[in-house]
Amino acid sequence: MIKENNAHTELLEKDIRFLRGVGPEKAKLLNKLGIEKIEDIITYFPREYEDRSKVKKISELQDGEEALISVRALTNVIEINAKRLKIYKLSVCDDTARIQIIWYNQQYLKNVIKRGNNYKFYGKVSIKNGEIQMASPVFDAHGVSNNTGKIVPIYPLTYGITQFTLRKIIENALIEVEKANAIVENLPEYLIKKYNLYDRKTAIKEIHFPKNFDTFKKAKTRLAFEELLLMQIKLLSLKNQYKLNKGIEFDKNVNMQDVINNLPFKLTNAQLRVINEIENDMESSKNMNRLVQGDVGSGKTVVAMMAAYKAVKSGYQVAMMAPTAILASQHEINFKNILEQYGIRCELLISGVTAKNKREILERLENGEIDIIIGTHAVLEDNVVFKNLGLVITDEQHRFGVKQREVLTEKGKSVDTLVMTATPIPRTLALILFGDLDISIIDELPPNRKKIDTFAVTKALEERVNIFIEKQIKEGKQVYIVCPLVEENEEIDAKSVLETVEKYKNEILKDYKVEYLHGKMKAKEKEEIMQKFKNGDIDVLISTTVIEVGVDVPNATVMVIENAERFGLAQLHQLRGRVGRGQDKSYCILKFKGNSEIIRKRMQIMVETNDGFKIAEKDLELRGTGEFFGTRQHGIPDFKIANLFEDMKILAEVQKISLEIIREDPEFNLEKNIVLKEAIKEKIVI
Ligand code: ADP
Ligand code: MG
Repeated sequence: MIKENNAHTELLEKDIRFLRGVGPEKAKLLNKLGIEKIEDIITYFPREYEDRSKVKKISELQDGEEALISVRALTNVIEINAKRLKIYKLSVCDDTARIQIIWYNQQYLKNVIKRGNNYKFYGKVSIKNGEIQMASPVFDAHGVSNNTGKIVPIYPLTYGITQFTLRKIIENALIEVEKANAIVENLPEYLIKKYNLYDRKTAIKEIHFPKNFDTFKKAKTRLAFEELLLMQIKLLSLKNQYKLNKGIEFDKNVNMQDVINNLPFKLTNAQLRVINEIENDMESSKNMNRLVQGDVGSGKTVVAMMAAYKAVKSGYQVAMMAPTAILASQHEINFKNILEQYGIRCELLISGVTAKNKREILERLENGEIDIIIGTHAVLEDNVVFKNLGLVITDEQHRFGVKQREVLTEKGKSVDTLVMTATPIPRTLALILFGDLDISIIDELPPNRKKIDTFAVTKALEERVNIFIEKQIKEGKQVYIVCPLVEENEEIDAKSVLETVEKYKNEILKDYKVEYLHGKMKAKEKEEIMQKFKNGDIDVLISTTVIEVGVDVPNATVMVIENAERFGLAQLHQLRGRVGRGQDKSYCILKFKGNSEIIRKRMQIMVETNDGFKIAEKDLELRGTGEFFGTRQHGIPDFKIANLFEDMKILAEVQKISLEIIREDPEFNLEKNIVLKEAIKEKIVI
């Protein structure tokens, strides 16, 4: 059994160079596609398929489509000398009409195609001035199906390699692999039976060269099932492992109560409950890996702060990572405000700090003279070294992958981790994103939070919106205006920060202080603007979604969103969460364009509810996962074949199965599960 396995892996591990028909030149091109070994090429799945199996009548052909026709040659191939090339023409017909076939520089065709014989052609149709043409088609003689009569895979390519070549290479690879019987099953037999799945070998063959669309579907289902199951099981077993790891036992005698009593506000019950869960984790000898989920404004920062306090007072350092410099520096200010009085030293580390400053910070960190370092990705760099790191906190985790979290935790020894996210994520997805974590939920907002009144308006109400903004500013409040673009873009019909600033600064609100902010500005500039806005020196801040996460300015009471139809609901909810953070009534104005049913529905949801979880579920329902997370896919594992939305049913099933397996056989020692142990050992990147 073990010997056999080795033989299998040997072929799959072989460098792609050594595959028949490849060689060093083509290998280099394949490397560009991420294909290094034979195993990579057989799992290099098609992007789409061409159906060359269904014959179309010439009279039904549409301009621009690719189609298969079954015809008789009315002429021989005629050669025409054009300037630099030779054109070959052929007239063919079926029982509905005639069509011209043309090729360029393909002399051999003259000897291959004969008048009066029948052929099948597959190619792109063009109709100009009533004349139908098919250019450079592939073809087969009657009764042959080398190029037609089947479903043909289309692969993502790179320059220098054609579909035809890649297809040939994959065909070869599949033959070799088949000969060596090298594709090993990686799902337990009982699951394959129960769910009537293809075995792995069949699935891989069929996904490349499906016999028909049914076999394709079955192959795709099998591979998506496999991908999701292995991912899920890997996450769950990671979680189990963490639990077995011996973690730091933080000091039981460090009491947070005094600090809590000293806070400028009373913590909510939900906050207290979550702090308690964290405290238990930290004091226990097991490793903490906990996710704190809580809607925007539910007060996650102070919860993180309490954990940090506990860690520092137990003699450890803390690293906190946030996705943007704005957010990191805001956290640093908040932490300092509360924790400095207890002798805790916090520092900020973002790419904006000067080299000299940075050197000094890194030195102090290594010497243990800094207790809490708060920063962006900058804290992941190799030269960031701790004396005694004990706790890692990542804020808005959905933007960081498991990998990045690991980089940070490896800077210490069996450190505890705490992950905070404001993106309400439906349960099925949470398991894929955070399956390796224990989850705490802050399901209560601080008291006296008033509902943010939300209005969805079209251009017709623009003036009234502006009057309203001005009125709020006159009352001393501040306003955000969010635009989808930084600069104008001819191809995208949406508002940009720069044009909007012009309009408001020079016309609509010229008596007030209007400033702008976007991701392309220098970190330092961004910080200055943000600081001025916080201090109340700016009345209106026009910005891209850089302010989306975490930014906290209680005096801001109006959030205007331009082209709201372009944002995901979860994102709109996040943006809306920038207001309603102080004592005063707050408003969110969604300016939208377009009349489609779905746009109206989405706006309606935002107007009706302030509940992030409800919004997330609706959003997912209406749009699918891809868009649910906006263009940012960070944190979502890269799937080769599974699609979290299309395959939602499979996902739900797989999650059930994974939990059952882990519960029954956490280390995959049962005979029936042994294949899983092997399968998740490597290869799965999360
Ligand atoms: P989020 O969960 O979105 O990160 P924050 O931690 O930024 O929320 O908290 C939002 C605002 O609410 C902050 O100004 C914070 O000081 C305040 N806050 C947090 N907890 C409470 C509470 N229990 N009572 C009143 N205000 C609170
Ligand atoms: Mg936050």
